[in-house]
Amino acid sequence: MQISERKVASFHYTLTNDAGDVLDSSEGREPLAYLHGAGNIVPGLESEMTGRSAGDKFKVDVTPENGYGTYIEELVQVVPRESFQGVDELAVGMQFQAQTAQGAIAVVVTAIEGDQVTVDGNHPLAGETLHFDVEIAEVRDASEEETQHGHVHGVGGHQH
Ligand code: ZN
Repeated sequence: MQISERKVASFHYTLTNDAGDVLDSSEGREPLAYLHGAGNIVPGLESEMTGRSAGDKFKVDVTPENGYGTYIEELVQVVPRESFQGVDELAVGMQFQAQTAQGAIAVVVTAIEGDQVTVDGNHPLAGETLHFDVEIAEVRDASEEETQHGHVHGVGGHQH
């Protein structure tokens, strides 16, 4: 069975950056399952999945534009500490939901200087070229419910 629209594919992967550092890997875990054509994985990887079948091994280089996006300076903002009411101990690395004109985005605190808190709304991998080493584990038909929800249920997917 080949990967196409409305198929669920599960795959093992190792993700490295340009320097060869391993950023993420499924090694020692269940393979990652996704619904093809639903935007569950980055576009540059999803497009290379089309037509593959179980046992296929391949490498994909994904540009930032087809990965987690380019790094956008405007998503880095300095806000007053009082914006974080209810947070006892604000620290670098904390994540928050920020309301913007484009909707809610996840931001991470990258610096604190006195009353000034710097937050970054870029994805941690924004601006990175992604190098995936992939092995397809299984391809199956998506259920009616999975197609409606736009994601995979069960092992490697949503547990609801
Ligand atoms: Zn669901």
